[in-house]
Order: sequence, then structure tokens, then C-alpha cells
Amino acid sequence: MWPPPSVFPNRMKSTMSETTLKGIENYLRQRKEQLITRLEKVQQDVTAEHSADWVEQAQERQNDEVMDAIGNESRVELSRINQALERLERGEYTTCSQCGETINLQRLEAVPYTDLCIQCASAAD
Ligand SMILES: [Zn+2]
Repeated sequence: MWPPPSVFPNRMKSTMSETTLKGIENYLRQRKEQLITRLEKVQQDVTAEHSADWVEQAQERQNDEVMDAIGNESRVELSRINQALERLERGEYTTCSQCGETINLQRLEAVPYTDLCIQCASAAD
């Protein structure tokens, strides 16, 4: 029999990793839906018809700025999620984009958008 069973000491571990990765992927997809919904709402609010009253107009402009800031934040997060999902699809999600080492799963659970291992991330700081 080749290879002997003893070359698979990590068998249990890799099954657990797949479960964790699936959980992260589900989280990313859910988060993406949330952000898309939020961005659509922001878009509707910003493009809503403005009042003729100039006092109300000023308030609306202020509101638009807040909504813009929320929108920008959401767009940044959305693009990071899309990148993470692409990396998942290519099977590169757990590979550090800098040194090519495997990124610790606990780190990915904590920071699901990262593409750097802990060593490269702390070197970048
Ligand atoms: Zn690295």
C-alpha cells in the first residue's frame, strides 16, 4: 500500500481547515450582500430630490456628506471582500501574497480580508 497512512498525520487538521474556510467564505458573502444593500440605500438617499427651502437644503447637504462617507467606507470594504473572494476562488486565500507562506487560519478568521501572513503584516507596520 502506497502511500502508507502514516504520511497523512494532518488529515484531521485539514478537514477542520476546510470547515473554517467555508465559514469565512460564508461570512464574506453575507457581508458583501449587506454592503451592496447599504450602498444602494446610500445611493437612493443622495440622489433623492432636494427641498426648495435653503435651510433644509443645507441640512440635506450635510446629510449627503455623511451618506457619502458611509458610502466610501462601504465601497472600500466591498472591494476588499471581492479581492478576498477572488483569492478564495483561485485557492490562494491562505497563501501570503508577499512571502508565499501559509497564512494562519486564526489570523484569517480575525482579519478575513488580509492577504499577508502575520510576519509580513507586522513587517509592513
Ligand atoms: Zn508573508
